[in-house]
Amino acid sequence: MNFSELGLSPALMRAVDSMGLHLPTPIQGQAIPAVLQGRDVWASAPTGSGKTLAYVLPLVQKILQAPKQTNFRRPIRCLVLIPTRELALQVGQVLRQVADSLGLKAVVAHGGVSINPQMMALRGGADVVVATTGRLLDLVAHNALRLSEVQHLVLDEADRLLELGFADELQSVLALLTQAHQTLCWSATATPELAAWAEHGLRDPLRIESDAAEVFEAPQIEQRAIAVDDKKRTALLRHLITTQGWQRVLVFVATRYACAHLASKLCTAGVRASALHGDMSQGARQVALQDFKDSRIDVLVTTDLAARGIDIALLPVVVNHDLPRSANDYTHRIGRTARAGAQGQAVSFISADAFAHWQLIQKRAQVQLPLDVVAGFEPTETPAPTAGVGGIKGKRPSKKDKWRALQQPAG
Ligand code: ADP
Ligand code: MG
Repeated sequence: MNFSELGLSPALMRAVDSMGLHLPTPIQGQAIPAVLQGRDVWASAPTGSGKTLAYVLPLVQKILQAPKQTNFRRPIRCLVLIPTRELALQVGQVLRQVADSLGLKAVVAHGGVSINPQMMALRGGADVVVATTGRLLDLVAHNALRLSEVQHLVLDEADRLLELGFADELQSVLALLTQAHQTLCWSATATPELAAWAEHGLRDPLRIESDAAEVFEAPQIEQRAIAVDDKKRTALLRHLITTQGWQRVLVFVATRYACAHLASKLCTAGVRASALHGDMSQGARQVALQDFKDSRIDVLVTTDLAARGIDIALLPVVVNHDLPRSANDYTHRIGRTARAGAQGQAVSFISADAFAHWQLIQKRAQVQLPLDVVAGFEPTETPAPTAGVGGIKGKRPSKKDKWRALQQPAG
């Protein structure tokens, strides 16, 4: 299928050409015509499958084609809600790339920075606002914008927006959309909360569940699990960076403290590394991410803050130094690599303590990986027996037996 067969106008086709895109991704092929028709869409498609442009292109076209208002203030016609600041900036960049040359005004609003420039930017209105929910509500409270004329609502990373801690803000925002509007939900992972919300929040939506068999859509991620002692993980990471010639590595840890700690250990060891976590100022967060994108640093150590949506071109390796809490988080973390049809590797360090949790993640994420052992980093610890749930000794393999049986030497 071709972009020109999707119903895009000449103006949008020129935008597609100027971005150097040749063929639509499968999700774009399915979603773009439906969005142009004004339908609600609920799409689940893997990480890196091109969901952003699947809504940006048709929505920009719809806004361009809508009747012009005569009063001088531009009514906000399209609202894109995003769970994290970095992702809001990223989506804002993609949107501006398309919208600017077509005379549309897009404003990005997120927390962690002064609200004043955002209020200034919103003077005279805007056609599209990309926002995190908290800052959006602040702006509404400051009378900096009105949402009563929104005709298109996008929930990017919709499952996250409906999670505890976001859901209340989301409901407050939705209450401000008084006009009937088209709603588009996008996510790589679905949750029961999202399904329940979609049931009553969407009008006869087109449900798109991408076919993982399609080459572009199924990310080509080679997953590895390596058994290693807790205390040897940083040394192993350095060893792999050197021996595997890894140039650009995104390393996930569990806490902000661990993030800063590991990054400084790596720096001391001569690795060009930075941290990216929620305790840093928004300015420092952006510098770290941009340094990584522009290859000024080789290793970015981060928390689940960077697990969702962030698009780093040609990121070959993701490392789970600490395991994520859930299988969904695992999917999002490893989805930072192998984007847009590229190849990538996701390596998880499994210490004896984390083994039981790893089994659970594997089960939920429907993967079953052998436990590699790297020469010189053979684990010496074994998992503690689970209290109270042990089977009959000798009849069923214990956690320790499984841990040993799964381990295999690797390069
Ligand atoms: P998702 O939101 O599905 O995780 P993104 O929208 O961030 O993915 O897109 C992932 C990458 O794919 C981006 O770098 C984007 O520029 C690229 N991309 C999007 N559409 C196409 C296309 N039609 N052809 C080639 N690359 C594309
Ligand atoms: Mg995305």
